[in-house]
Amino acid sequence: MKTTSTEKRIIIALDGPAGSGKSTTARRVAGELGYVYIDTGAMYRAITLAALREERSLTNTDLLPLLEDYHLELVITPDGQRTILGREDVTQEIRSPEVTKFVSTVSALPAVREALSKRQRDMGKNGGVVMDGRDIGTVVFPEAELKIFLMASLEERAKRRLAELGETTLSLQEMCRQIDERDKQDAGRLVSPLRRAHDAIEIDTSHLSIEEQTSRILALARERILA
Ligand code: C5P
Repeated sequence: MKTTSTEKRIIIALDGPAGSGKSTTARRVAGELGYVYIDTGAMYRAITLAALREERSLTNTDLLPLLEDYHLELVITPDGQRTILGREDVTQEIRSPEVTKFVSTVSALPAVREALSKRQRDMGKNGGVVMDGRDIGTVVFPEAELKIFLMASLEERAKRRLAELGETTLSLQEMCRQIDERDKQDAGRLVSPLRRAHDAIEIDTSHLSIEEQTSRILALARERILA
């Protein structure tokens, strides 16, 4: 059921740790409602990629000019969201192990967070969006009509990441270690740490299929749209 033009177009904030199923679920929920899906992690990843390419030190002062110079855009296409840096489509490259390794260091920098949160607010201010990230319900859109916090056990999340990667030599144990390290960095930083907003609804996806997660969130969204 798509929403009609007279219906309220709400903001749906979807937060949670790495591998909790945010992006797949957010994309589906957005598709069902005819909303725009915004993957804010892609923005942090793109800035990290730019910093690594230019061999900048990962500090506020070194990255601030980069944020001003680089044109960063999320483009919605029928095949999903593309991430554009300058004129280049970096959708694939921002998922590299190198970017994943350093993204939490870059995203902990106040200058980076301030610049990207401002853009995210601009992108979502008219509603009709499903935005996924770590601080959407707490900092970017604390007034969002629906806030979801997705969780799953570490092992389940690591298994999902390995399945996404396809062929890899990484063991389950090593993937658990990498995810746990990133979560700890994201939850432990001073500015906008990963945490559940007090009014977010927590959903444990460890034993849920994507269809089940999607339909639960859609039901909650429709209650609010029709309220
Ligand atoms: O969602 P994804 O795993 O692609 O996010 C990559 C990283 O970007 C996270 O580990 C986190 O450090 C950062 N991030 C963030 N705030 C957001 C979205 C992502 O700090 N809203």
